[in-house]
Amino acid sequence: ERLSSPNANQEEEIYEKTLRPQLLAQYIGQDKVKEELSIYIQAAKNREEALDHVLLYGPPGLGKTTMAMVIANEMQVHIRTTSGPSIEKPGDLIATLNELEPGDVLFIDEIHRLPRVAEEMLYSAMEDFYVDIMVGQGTTSHPVHFPLPPFTLIGATTRAGMLSAPLRDRFGIISHMEYYAEKDLKEIVLRSSSVFQTEIVAEGAAEIARRSRGTPRVANRLLKRIRDFAQVQADGVIDQKIADKALSLLQVDSEGLDYVDQKLIKTMIELYGGGPVGLNTLSVNVGEEQETVEDMYEPFLIQKGFLKRTPRGRIATARSYEHFNYPYQDKFV
Ligand code: ADP
Repeated sequence: ERLSSPNANQEEEIYEKTLRPQLLAQYIGQDKVKEELSIYIQAAKNREEALDHVLLYGPPGLGKTTMAMVIANEMQVHIRTTSGPSIEKPGDLIATLNELEPGDVLFIDEIHRLPRVAEEMLYSAMEDFYVDIMVGQGTTSHPVHFPLPPFTLIGATTRAGMLSAPLRDRFGIISHMEYYAEKDLKEIVLRSSSVFQTEIVAEGAAEIARRSRGTPRVANRLLKRIRDFAQVQADGVIDQKIADKALSLLQVDSEGLDYVDQKLIKTMIELYGGGPVGLNTLSVNVGEEQETVEDMYEPFLIQKGFLKRTPRGRIATARSYEHFNYPYQDKFV
């Protein structure tokens, strides 16, 4: 699997518990989101009410699941976790709703992938805390009113725009998670190093932070690999030199672009004269799903100024040409 993929893998589950911050005060970065949430949490606690429903959106690996757990912790309630794709029929959702106690958090990851019928059940569940369940068949079929305790739904999605308007409108709090600043990622790397009991110097942490696509999951994953390099090829201490050497071997370049990012940009320049090129064409060329390119690769490349979305397709910027040492003709002005 791609090393700098922001998606979780199984090996990581083991570390999750120790790596995840438990409280807002321990959660590094996302200051705007934290500041808003801390006010809403405080107010809900004062009123002894469930927190309003929260939608967290942003690229994978930025800490949406972590934030949902932190919120539940701060509210001192249980959290039930599920995901859009794992709810196949309405019964799956009802089973989960049935477990909720007053004030609990229900976390639905990839909420945009919820089946339509389940999504529609959520409307009344979120708004008035009940669901109508159809029982019986044919002419004897009738709805049964099923009340729920007040609860907080926390939904996570990569793009808020992928949610239907009726669902989106039912979230009282909508928070946008952003790529992390280098200084915040550096702090996360230092913290994770101490969890892994790995010695690291400030410059080593900074190098990893700089090349982690602004994403904590990527930073943690790279740190684990670099730790191996440091153990075998040095004295176990991660400094800037060993970090740089390991990252180069892992095909993570000086800007944190991995081989898929590099292939994407190079394809645009070499095969399509820098664009505009359609998303579909681009995806086929790098052998990734269109949705993956759009949600995982592009947001980072756009934020870094390597790629632009235009109505006619994607274009490689002057910065891309420069970074990959191609001569740039300014044909777009
Ligand atoms: P998402 O749900 O957005 O895909 P996760 O919440 O699963 O992301 O976070 C991915 C990884 O990054 C986890 O290992 C988590 O512990 C770590 N992480 C995320 N945000 C932070 C943070 N602010 N501070 C420390 N670690 C973080």
